[in-house]
Amino acid sequence: MTDEPRDPFLGDPHDPAAALDGDEPGAPLSPVEREDVLADLEDLDIFQALLDPKGVRGIVVDCEDCGEPHFFGWDLMRGNLLYLLEAGQTRVHEPAFGPDPSAYVSWDYARGYADGAVAATDEH
Ligand SMILES: [Zn+2]
Repeated sequence: MTDEPRDPFLGDPHDPAAALDGDEPGAPLSPVEREDVLADLEDLDIFQALLDPKGVRGIVVDCEDCGEPHFFGWDLMRGNLLYLLEAGQTRVHEPAFGPDPSAYVSWDYARGYADGAVAATDEH
């Protein structure tokens, strides 16, 4: 697969589409950015459907701001993406609630797992 790893929480400040809108914090997302978030939401549904039955409780994101991993349950992750869609910005870091790190996977892991599951389905 050729997709660059993507952090669903970070808007790319160098995104040329963002420059066109003269974005300010809290400004509405551009149509391109909305598409990205909507695609992430669709992916998240797929990830949850595939991984939740395996005991995975959500997504872990390595935070560039505080250097700590942040754990997001499926619902919290979905809520963050919906908030981004609505408010044009991400929430500040929410405190973890004693998550079990082994029950969380990275976005890239989830995507790889989903890609593998789709490929396996295609072969049959
Ligand atoms: Zn953080």
